[in-house]
Amino acid sequence: MATLRRFAVAVVLAFGLALPVFAAPAPHVTISLDATEAPRKIFHAHLTIPASPGTLTLYYPKWIPGEHGPTGPIQDLAGLKFTANGQLLKWRRDLLDGWTIHVEVPGGATNIEASLDFISPAGHEGIYTGGASATDKMTVISWNTVLLYPAGWSSDQLTYDASLRLPRGWNFGTSLQVASKSESEIKFAPVSLTMLVDSPIISGQYLKIVPLNQGENPPVEMDIAADTAAALEAPSEVWEHYKNLVAQAGTLFGARHYRDYHFLFSLSDHVAHFGLEHHESNDSRSYERTLVDDRLRLIEAGLLPHEYVHSWNGKYRRPADLTTPDYEKPMQTDLLWVYEGLTSYLGDVLSARSGVRTADQFRDVLAKIAAELDHRPGRTWRNLQDTADGVPAMQAAPHEWESWRRPLDYYEEDVLNWLWADVIIRQQTQNKKSMDDFCHLFHGGQSGPPQVKTYNFDDVVNTLNQVAPYDWRGFWTERLNNHGPGAPLAGVEGSGWKLVYDENRSELVKAEEDAAKENINAAYSIGLWLRDDGHITDTIEGMPAAKAGIGPGMAVIAVNGKKFSVDVLHDALRATKNSSEPLELLVENTDYYKVFKIDYHGGEKFPHLVRDESKPDLLSDIIKAH
Ligand SMILES: [Zn+2]
Repeated sequence: MATLRRFAVAVVLAFGLALPVFAAPAPHVTISLDATEAPRKIFHAHLTIPASPGTLTLYYPKWIPGEHGPTGPIQDLAGLKFTANGQLLKWRRDLLDGWTIHVEVPGGATNIEASLDFISPAGHEGIYTGGASATDKMTVISWNTVLLYPAGWSSDQLTYDASLRLPRGWNFGTSLQVASKSESEIKFAPVSLTMLVDSPIISGQYLKIVPLNQGENPPVEMDIAADTAAALEAPSEVWEHYKNLVAQAGTLFGARHYRDYHFLFSLSDHVAHFGLEHHESNDSRSYERTLVDDRLRLIEAGLLPHEYVHSWNGKYRRPADLTTPDYEKPMQTDLLWVYEGLTSYLGDVLSARSGVRTADQFRDVLAKIAAELDHRPGRTWRNLQDTADGVPAMQAAPHEWESWRRPLDYYEEDVLNWLWADVIIRQQTQNKKSMDDFCHLFHGGQSGPPQVKTYNFDDVVNTLNQVAPYDWRGFWTERLNNHGPGAPLAGVEGSGWKLVYDENRSELVKAEEDAAKENINAAYSIGLWLRDDGHITDTIEGMPAAKAGIGPGMAVIAVNGKKFSVDVLHDALRATKNSSEPLELLVENTDYYKVFKIDYHGGEKFPHLVRDESKPDLLSDIIKAH
């Protein structure tokens, strides 16, 4: 408990949060969650909440840490009922905020009983913790979806006593401490609301637990739930690579800010796919066959390293204006270029240092990012800073028009920018210092239980200057505000490599097209992204397909008169360089058919990195295991 109190004090001192000072002790809430109907996608919660007569204001968590927006799935809260001393209570939703509920507490009552259901999405609606989370064989429980909390207290001050019932025969994994366990119920040790919401539970009939640093402290394990037993049987080198990831992350940061750590990995084609970071765990969800299919594993290779890095960058070190006292106060996202951007860079670097990706696969990822950003017309109207600033308002942006909208580019463009910064540090110090030194200073310190150490723009600049004096303020100001049409490639080029295009698909492009059956790539030839059924997900403004009149949402039916398939499209594009005839696409648009003639003769174009022998190979140094 001392740990959690220290955590609370650190947050309050850091921001001088103006919370009301109460003479009474902070409420101690009990919650019992019945998840036995998880396969039906309905969860029943019962809470006892201390209260006094008058109006009690309760919140359903709205701004969920790591989701970067007001995404708490209030539309899926149902069956809400309050009683006190056996009497049904009146309640009304706040007219200005749908996540706020006012309950009338009668005289003489010292607490109220709340019962509620969380109806987990049965289809594709919802994102993050509000996305599909339950199948016939498994579920992930995010506590923010199944509880209410009283107004007037920070989430650090509130204590929750949680218990859980699961479908018969289902096992579970979580970073929560188990107080007791019987056949029918698990009781967890009392914990702050902050740490409860930060500690999801994975559960399923097929659950595999793999220790990743046996015998070491703090312990790290992977808890994997899948829709089939077969999906858990990964080749043994997969576990070795994730063990290396744990070791390499320790070397990179020099400290660990958790008591024990759980990778909670869901393998299902019927849950929402994403990763969500926590101090002592991550909730990562991917295709059922991710661990057993080499191609899917390659596509998803960046997921777990990224989420693991967040334990240091995002949870332990967090932008001050993103660190809020509860889930009701809005978060400000202007520093996501550090929170997410640096995490993406370090996650990719660690994926290569650990062997989760080979050096070739790492370079293919970097080539993919560089090419995408180099064909990003949205850069001309929207600077990188605005992609971070605007994200709370545009969480649900569709895939269509992505290159013009450029919604979340602080993830990928900042891989290029942080690589550039790493190259500058190495150049300025004759390769004696690197981003690793920044990580030691910024994310290291004393190992121990979770805590939050906040930062602002100046702290980032100052720490970079401690590693290697340079105009870092000018560097980041320019990176965040420029409107150049092309990608920032100086980091790639300074690291001794060049972005080139040829007609050969990389292993990664093949995997995305053949195994995931999405991101069919005609982007760098005619400016088209498709699904394998011909549906056009995006066109790139200024490139031949868009100029000819084709747009997202249309579907390619035939190519040069032959019925569309991925192979037919690739063959026709490859042939363009030996033909003087235009490429002819029969396209369906809102039930109308039209032929578009595209005067293009450049052949297929897929991105790769090739070595520039005129420069030292810093990139290979960066991804070398330490
Ligand atoms: Zn992230």
